[in-house]
Amino acid sequence: MHRNFAFLTRNFQVIIRRSYARSQIRVRFAPSPTGYLHLGGLRTALYNYLFARSKNGCFILRIEDTDQTRVVPGAMEQLHSDLMWAGIIPDEDPIRGGPVGPYVQSKRLDLYKEHVEILLKNGSAYRCFCSETRLKLLRNTAVKESQTPKYDNRCRHFSDEEVKDRLKRGQTYCIRFKLTPTPDPFKDLIYGDITYNVSVNEGDPVIFKTDGFPTYHFANVVDDHLMEISHVLRGVEWQMSTPKHLLLYKAFGWTPPQYGHLPLILNSNGTKLSKRQDDIRVDYYRKDGILPLPLLNYITLAGSGFVRDKGLSHCYSYQELIKSFDINKINVNSSRLDPIKLMEFNQLEISNLVSNKENHKFLVERITKLVKEAFSDRALDDSLNLNPDHIIATLKWAQHRITKLSDLVKSDLKFLWVKPNAGKDLKYLEAVDVLSKKLEGLERDHFCKESLLTHLKEFSNNNNVPFADLMKTLRSLLSGLKEGPGVAEMMEILGRDTTLNRLKRNVT
Ligand code: GLU
Repeated sequence: MHRNFAFLTRNFQVIIRRSYARSQIRVRFAPSPTGYLHLGGLRTALYNYLFARSKNGCFILRIEDTDQTRVVPGAMEQLHSDLMWAGIIPDEDPIRGGPVGPYVQSKRLDLYKEHVEILLKNGSAYRCFCSETRLKLLRNTAVKESQTPKYDNRCRHFSDEEVKDRLKRGQTYCIRFKLTPTPDPFKDLIYGDITYNVSVNEGDPVIFKTDGFPTYHFANVVDDHLMEISHVLRGVEWQMSTPKHLLLYKAFGWTPPQYGHLPLILNSNGTKLSKRQDDIRVDYYRKDGILPLPLLNYITLAGSGFVRDKGLSHCYSYQELIKSFDINKINVNSSRLDPIKLMEFNQLEISNLVSNKENHKFLVERITKLVKEAFSDRALDDSLNLNPDHIIATLKWAQHRITKLSDLVKSDLKFLWVKPNAGKDLKYLEAVDVLSKKLEGLERDHFCKESLLTHLKEFSNNNNVPFADLMKTLRSLLSGLKEGPGVAEMMEILGRDTTLNRLKRNVT
């Protein structure tokens, strides 16, 4: 009784969800955990996210790990973390779950088994007993004859008796899908009518492997259907797979989602993005001090799909990106990245963040992490100046001078973060005490390189302290380092308070 009730409730839930979902936009980003999230993947995720948000729909993250041989440990967590960093937050995902989960394909094997049975029963799929050796022979022969290798569909024609007999003998098999001609075009939301007669060019594809896992094509279609995906927006490299997917929908008797393929993104010199480039990895930018919105603006500027009424030099906020996104504006041209724009956007965003106090905690956290990483040898002995006021004051000074947060931890600015030694053994310390009293009288606004230099020169002349010696002592007190900018400039960068503190040997 109890079990029946539970069963009814589950069915009832499915019915409610289906009728609710039909009117709703549901899109997904479906990466394979085989490596890092790169700019192409980020663009696909972003466009799906913006499409969902602009239509009050749902954005789903699904991990496609049916090819277990290519799964990289930790890649799924990294993908998730990169998306969260970028602010592309899914409504349903493997970590948070959701009504149509699990959201990792390797946890859905029973569902695929159930569904492949349907295709076997209705005659759209068949067991293939071909050995690896036979398949290899087919491939080699085709290559020798300069033909595209494809499976010859031999097992498609086995009688029921023959299949039974082979099963009885314990022969291993995979399951293939029977391709039928696709002479008619399908409608690509971005590319228009696309004709690819898949059965002419390919043999029947494997949909279930001997290892008990489905292949990408099968799992992708089953999941898009069960997860009630309304629109599939994915990279153009998948366009040739779509006719196959549509045939699978037909075999199941399901209504397919609408498909739109996104054109390629290219490097600034027009070459294709290559997995060997470091600068296509999202985590490369994260580590380099690029902020999420500038990175998103960078890839949207390289692509179409937006009404940019605020101009090309405006770093759009999430709300603005959502508002200006229009799927009908995506065109088929491949577009080029413009790294100079990325730096411009990042500088704008740094200024934006600094100007609003609400962001200061976030900035302090980011910079603290950067500094600790950059000067890890000093991170444990309390010799780094990570005082929040110092961090914000430094950022205010730096905002128009740096393009990335990581510029703040370059070696010539190390003195900003590493506290100097108290410098008791230095010469002219008494003179420095007199000098710091004088500098105290300088207004904050006059604490700039030019005016400081004049003061230092005057002080050296009037007090008979050789200028070079004075500079040596000051540099030592201010930074304790050999490298770095000139003393007056260093004072300007450190700002009045930190400079005076360091001159008084209050090491900060
Ligand atoms: N798992 C595929 C990928 O890695 C997804 C393709 C699709 O969106 O259908 O890109």
